[in-house]
Amino acid sequence: MKKEITKRGVLYVGFLCNLQCKFCYYRYMKNKKWRDIDKLKKRASRIRYFYRNGFVDITGGEPTIYPHIFELVKYCQTIGLKPTIITNGIALADKSICERFKQNGINDFLVSIYGLGETADYITGAKNVAEKQRRALENLRELNISFRINVTVHRFTAPQLPGIAEFAAAEGAKVINMIIFNPFLEWKKIINIDFQEKYSIMAPYIKEAVKISEKKGIEINVRYLPFCQLKGLEKNIYNFKQLNYDPHEWDLNTADDHKKINPKDFWYEKEASQRTSIENRLYQKSEKCERCSLSEICDGFHAQYVKKFGFGEEKPYTLSQKIKDPIYFIQSQVKTKDAYQKPNKTIFKYLLLEDKELLSDLIKSIKCLKFIDRKIGQLGLSLKKHWPKLYSRLKKIK
Ligand code: SF4
Repeated sequence: MKKEITKRGVLYVGFLCNLQCKFCYYRYMKNKKWRDIDKLKKRASRIRYFYRNGFVDITGGEPTIYPHIFELVKYCQTIGLKPTIITNGIALADKSICERFKQNGINDFLVSIYGLGETADYITGAKNVAEKQRRALENLRELNISFRINVTVHRFTAPQLPGIAEFAAAEGAKVINMIIFNPFLEWKKIINIDFQEKYSIMAPYIKEAVKISEKKGIEINVRYLPFCQLKGLEKNIYNFKQLNYDPHEWDLNTADDHKKINPKDFWYEKEASQRTSIENRLYQKSEKCERCSLSEICDGFHAQYVKKFGFGEEKPYTLSQKIKDPIYFIQSQVKTKDAYQKPNKTIFKYLLLEDKELLSDLIKSIKCLKFIDRKIGQLGLSLKKHWPKLYSRLKKIK
């Protein structure tokens, strides 16, 4: 694996859904509604031409029931932003829906699996979910539409992980992501979450699932788990600092609309650290962690997790030196990756002709002012002649 920042952006269509999963991040969100299609198209253009992404995850809520979903998929495909839909797969049990996605240029699906058999019904609050998902995957396979699998790992799904890995392989999944339930948003204030489980209890099942998938040649990633819980399989673990380098994950610059032009690796690593930092009190490390050789590339434990279970599961590494490179382990993992294609429009043409709002935000920063001024000159255009108002504004700030 080369050290390359992910080229994947994200579009949220709104948080409405046709299921009510116990662990949903948006479970406690009020006043959910769909987003405007024209605004989503504008956002897609910004993701492509300003942020230079080649891929986009369309997520919700449940995007397959968004009223303008086909129009949005087609638009992304047209501008060279290969669209993935993150879905519970219920709508895809209808083959004609899958066909429409194919006709409109879907690149692939990322289907969330909620468990085998009745576990899926218990988690989602609906009936026959596992069977509907099985039909959805069968439809995708028959139509030759690629798909990957997400599984949220918790008390009910952990023992089923080896079975889910077998199921995903038999159905033809390209990648499996095992995502440890993370108490984000409102969840971080709740201590008694009945489906939450200790890492050390879930780890043996995760290990078995990794081994099954790799034996079958399927990429498998484990997100948000301290390295020491999966000793020997560190190459499969993605904490916040590693996520920047996973082509299936989101570019932080795009996801949070930081408006950075071509940020370097160190910016991403700093941003990832801030997300988990002690100041933010989101993640915590024990004294043992501080002595561990991996403490700089590991997130440690979520603050809510520590409140619930306490420390005690840490098994610090004692290597000859501290590891600082986030891809130290994951570089030896074989990744499935689609080819990236550069957009056919420069950032500056896009800003000047299509995104005046962003241009105006950028010129509030002196650094960007100078950059834009220089780049406009490189395009052979005259700022003074073509954009006199902008020119006088630049002059004043200078
Ligand atoms: S920093 Fe702590 S949690 Fe992370 S691997 Fe080391 S001991 Fe485990």
